[in-house]
Amino acid sequence: MINNLPVKTLKHGELTIEGYSRAAVQTYWRFPELKLGFDLGAQPWSFMGTETWFVTHGHLDHIVALPVYVARRRMMKMTPPVIYMPAETIEPMQKILRQFTKLDRGRLPCELKPIAAGDEIELSRELIVSVVGTRHTVPSLGFIVWERRRKLRPEYQDLSGDQIRDLRLAGNEVSHEIRKPLLAYLGDSSPAGLDDNPAMYEAKVLICELTFVAPDHRRDKIHKFGHMHLDDIVERRDRFQNELVIAAHLSTRYHSKTVRALVSKALPDMLDGRMHLWL
Ligand SMILES: [Zn+2]
Ligand SMILES: [Zn+2]
Repeated sequence: MINNLPVKTLKHGELTIEGYSRAAVQTYWRFPELKLGFDLGAQPWSFMGTETWFVTHGHLDHIVALPVYVARRRMMKMTPPVIYMPAETIEPMQKILRQFTKLDRGRLPCELKPIAAGDEIELSRELIVSVVGTRHTVPSLGFIVWERRRKLRPEYQDLSGDQIRDLRLAGNEVSHEIRKPLLAYLGDSSPAGLDDNPAMYEAKVLICELTFVAPDHRRDKIHKFGHMHLDDIVERRDRFQNELVIAAHLSTRYHSKTVRALVSKALPDMLDGRMHLWL
């Protein structure tokens, strides 16, 4: 496999998390078992086979590789991908694709689907993506992937298989839907993006932005620019119920060593070992 871009991989239970994210550089994530990815700031060659993507916002470091990705899939004779993006970004991106087609004389077949906060997308019987509002300097969205199962209603728990079948045949609804948040992705946002969407704190895995960590960076400014500071995580430490909190999108002004030192000083237990710095 051609290795054209950095990709870090982490396995958590059944879920494989692959990606890279540094502020102003590039952001991309992929989850092979879920057959979906978040953001197209660049496109590792190995990600091409994933045909469903969700884009958080229109900043270049989250969207600029979209034409390249679409072109590669066409070149490799793969089906046109489906890309869900904030409604505001659709028309500009369609224009960009037309301009690239002029330059390149190659078609760029893809389905760009407009989404907004409150939307729900059924990817399969078991997987649903809900779209939530986040707070950034341009229209921005976050995503929560839910696992859906049907479970026998508690009042029927002690019945035999035959009895349940009879109830079902008589037209009774014997089961009900259960949803569990499996994966949450904040994208670029001030902390309000977490607080407005409590399921983010409950997802098994949360991918959270953490752009700033230095104590001398003013938090009011950071929030105004739609980002998060380490102190925002420290303040909320009791809210995170996640099994794994991935902190990503660190500013390029910090060396990895500096990030690790500042984070372990502010959060010596790393959220009881659940926090993982994506460096
Ligand atoms: Zn960004
Ligand atoms: Zn951004």
